[in-house]
Amino acid sequence: MSTPTTFRRTKIIATLGPATESEEMLAKLIRGGVDVIRLNMAHAKHEWTRTIIRRIRQVSQQIGREVAVMMDIKGPEIRTGDLTVPIELQPGEIFDFTVKPDPERGAEIRSVDVNYQNLVNDIKVGDTVLVDNGLIRLEVLSKDQAHIRCRVLTPGHLSSRRHINLPGVKVNLPAFTEKDRADTLVGLEEGIDFVALSFVREADDVLQLREFLKKQGSRARIIAKIEDQSAIDNLDDIIRATDALMIARGDLGIEVPLEELPVIQRRAVRTCLAIGRPVIVATHMLESMISQPVPTRAEITDVANAVFEQADCVMLSGETTVGKYPLECVQVLDTISRRIEHELSADFPEPTVFVSERMKVLRSAIVMANEIKGAAIIAFTRIGITAAGLAAHRPPSAPIIAFTDSLETLRHLRLVRSVEPYLMDFSTDPEATITGAVELLRANKRIVPGDKLVIVSDMVASDQRVDSIQLRTVQ
Ligand code: PGA
Ligand code: MN
Repeated sequence: MSTPTTFRRTKIIATLGPATESEEMLAKLIRGGVDVIRLNMAHAKHEWTRTIIRRIRQVSQQIGREVAVMMDIKGPEIRTGDLTVPIELQPGEIFDFTVKPDPERGAEIRSVDVNYQNLVNDIKVGDTVLVDNGLIRLEVLSKDQAHIRCRVLTPGHLSSRRHINLPGVKVNLPAFTEKDRADTLVGLEEGIDFVALSFVREADDVLQLREFLKKQGSRARIIAKIEDQSAIDNLDDIIRATDALMIARGDLGIEVPLEELPVIQRRAVRTCLAIGRPVIVATHMLESMISQPVPTRAEITDVANAVFEQADCVMLSGETTVGKYPLECVQVLDTISRRIEHELSADFPEPTVFVSERMKVLRSAIVMANEIKGAAIIAFTRIGITAAGLAAHRPPSAPIIAFTDSLETLRHLRLVRSVEPYLMDFSTDPEATITGAVELLRANKRIVPGDKLVIVSDMVASDQRVDSIQLRTVQ
């Protein structure tokens, strides 16, 4: 291809927050190559959410590059309550988590409220309670209906509304809470493209959300976030049930033994590739860049590893919500991805579920594109299945240039590795559609005379759909 430097296969997701929510910063992120903007509903108010989604759409339009919007809903999350003054926990201190008011309780033992009453039934004596991203560690000594009494193992500074992790404990909170429902409804009204469901524990959690979206008449796609041991136990079924997967390493790294994290990441990415589901590697990719302008060497290698594994997306969280160097973070991801993509080996699982005839056509197109040096694949795709099916085969050098007549599909394809989506009206005459697409790419200088194109399209010939693969040279 004539302009290989403009093409990055790995997609970039950036979470929006105080550091990036202004129109000016959004424009810089979008121009800088961000593909998907994530809104974290653990922190967002509804009014802010509406304003921001409208702002993203407006800035995208001004720039002429439509990015996708992902609403990340918090799911079953347990948090500590408000504290008037933070508590400095001491090593060995006896400390209570209170789930309901208890006038009998003396003041000699310090305590904090917890937002989930049933916790006393889910937790056992001897279990570990981790607070504030695993920084504070306690062991359960005893419990009754009002509180859970613990001993502090790793002390720390406890402030208000900290996240609680309970490794190995099956929490009986609903997968899709009332708050999630209210948040999602706001998102759907504003036309979000993806709903990311936190703490998915089994396939049924995904199916519940799918049912809800269907009832609302929404085409938004589901991203299942795997964050704890139950998700790992049910990984294959979750991947089958969802539209895409997020390896949420923040919580996962607390909930499972730390040395399991890379093993789980590799297994999850490989399973997604085999089943043809987009997969996101998330959290702490460039954590040190929240306060420093350059990444650590370990971070560089971690990002490179995700690209070597052929994940679809890499994601930024704190780096772009509150960090000092959000644009630099995007540039670093961009630079590493482009470099590593040139180094890729063919070590990825062949998609195994592509058994239909249509998928065999796609496979043949990939084989052809791989054999012709410098070829680009051009696909026409209404709901994105053709483009995603091609992407699942991970062509090592050909870009997948996807034309769609749906803006929603275009945005959905922002999540998919190697796919460059373009919006175009389809003609009833397939030849006119192909010519129009080639013209558009030539006008954009994306292709030049002499370039080879492997074109995947379906023609309608006497009322029958005929899948075709054509090889053309740009004139
Ligand atoms: P969060 O999810 O940022 O919503 O906690 C991501 C993670 O846990 O890695
Ligand atoms: Mn999380």
